[in-house]
Amino acid sequence: MDASERYEQLIAFLSTHLPPPVEQSEEANGIMVFRGGSPVEVIATLTHTSVIVDEYAVRWGTPTAPVDRPRRVGALNWRRLPESTVMNVVGQLIKGAREIRRSRYRACRFCGRTTPPEWLHDDDVCPGCAEAEMGVIH
Ligand SMILES: [Zn+2]
Repeated sequence: MDASERYEQLIAFLSTHLPPPVEQSEEANGIMVFRGGSPVEVIATLTHTSVIVDEYAVRWGTPTAPVDRPRRVGALNWRRLPESTVMNVVGQLIKGAREIRRSRYRACRFCGRTTPPEWLHDDDVCPGCAEAEMGVIH
């Protein structure tokens, strides 16, 4: 199998192994970015030499402008490894990134809904309850 076939195979692998739904976008120079999960849990970036896996995270630039700030969990050169090893390692990195991301979710103390950290107000309150129970205006 040549490099372009392996690249195509990795696209197929990532789009089926990331948490659904998977949103795929093509950047310059054949770089593919895959965002898996709703809310997003894992981001994978595929280049012509590497696969990079990140845990999705957000940093608040201003109180109303969240900025994506993914945390890298691993990167590997897929051309230098056997195909089965690449699939195996990438699969494990996706699983690990997803577990870490989900471990940061908290249950809202009013409605009990599991909510990602970037959506929570202080004291583990989701946006809906912050408005309803605490009179926070968005
Ligand atoms: Zn709530």
